[in-house]
Amino acid sequence: MDLSQEKDIDFYGRMRRKFKTRAAVFFSELHSPIPQEFNIPLSNTFSSISLLYQTSKKIETHLHIDPLELKLLQEEYSKDPYFTNILEELSKSESFKGYHLSPDQLILFQDSLGRNRLCIPKSMTSSIMNETHDSIMGTAHVGFKRSYARIANSFYWPGMSRDIRSYITTCPTCQQIKHARHLPYGLLQPIPIPSQPFEVITMDFIGELPFSKNYNTIFVLVCKLTKFTFFIPCTTNLTEEQAARMFFDKIVTLVGLPKQIISDRDTQWRNNFWKEVCLATGSKRALTATYHPQADSQTEILNQTIKVAIRAFINSSRDNWVDLLPYLSFAYNNTPHTTTKFTPSFLLYGFQP
Ligand SMILES: [Zn+2]
Repeated sequence: MDLSQEKDIDFYGRMRRKFKTRAAVFFSELHSPIPQEFNIPLSNTFSSISLLYQTSKKIETHLHIDPLELKLLQEEYSKDPYFTNILEELSKSESFKGYHLSPDQLILFQDSLGRNRLCIPKSMTSSIMNETHDSIMGTAHVGFKRSYARIANSFYWPGMSRDIRSYITTCPTCQQIKHARHLPYGLLQPIPIPSQPFEVITMDFIGELPFSKNYNTIFVLVCKLTKFTFFIPCTTNLTEEQAARMFFDKIVTLVGLPKQIISDRDTQWRNNFWKEVCLATGSKRALTATYHPQADSQTEILNQTIKVAIRAFINSSRDNWVDLLPYLSFAYNNTPHTTTKFTPSFLLYGFQP
């Protein structure tokens, strides 16, 4: 069987053709893949790192718009003083101060990151904030920065930062949960800069949680570069061998072996764990991974985020969090990270799911 391709697959071209027939979906500004370089600021300690991704030239506007919603948006633009002005300018020229029109006559705003964001008239901003901040597939009651980043990934309206801040400060669920004000203090050692996704990972456990389907802990693995995170349900009495097996099945088979693992587990646990991972890979070569056992502020932030989300959505018998994990994981990986400014999914896959 000949498996060679006659020509490169034009993924974005196929998507354009596929969605042309569906009125409920529009893809705007989609370009065929070309290599693109992203400059990711890593943290205060490092300068930055550039990564080459095979992706679209512009970050695509990928919005599912219901025909009724489309009509509503068009009607509300005409009632909104700010966007009425923009529409008037756009009737004279194709673009105005970053604004332009989609084929459906929706106003798009192109920001400094190249994202074409759907403009939301004032009368519809509360429902956008509600759908994003209050939903489990949205940001699940995270604080201002992450809620803002998620909304700003797709939407734009003037004064949105002020509006989102005020929405969150008055959100009843957030008032009950009370977000932690600061992280535990500690001396942080710099961690070497990874050059590719999943080269350096953080391994941590969130627990102890109430039992759900016989699990009471979450095994959390974070890629230091893209911040892509895996959440795996497990138990507090997980042995090194079981952890290694899980790690191999769920992580190594997808993204390969890391060069470095950051974990606060003791030396003996880490050594046994790594020995088991090597056994699972079937390699007789001495694979090595170095460890940085220090506290990691990003992990603390993530743990806090997940705990808040679980508390916000857990049922009264407190036994459904295992069922919520896939949703939370999707929400987490598709919210722009405060450090990289991109979503972990986009940085790992090169497209926004
Ligand atoms: Zn909230």
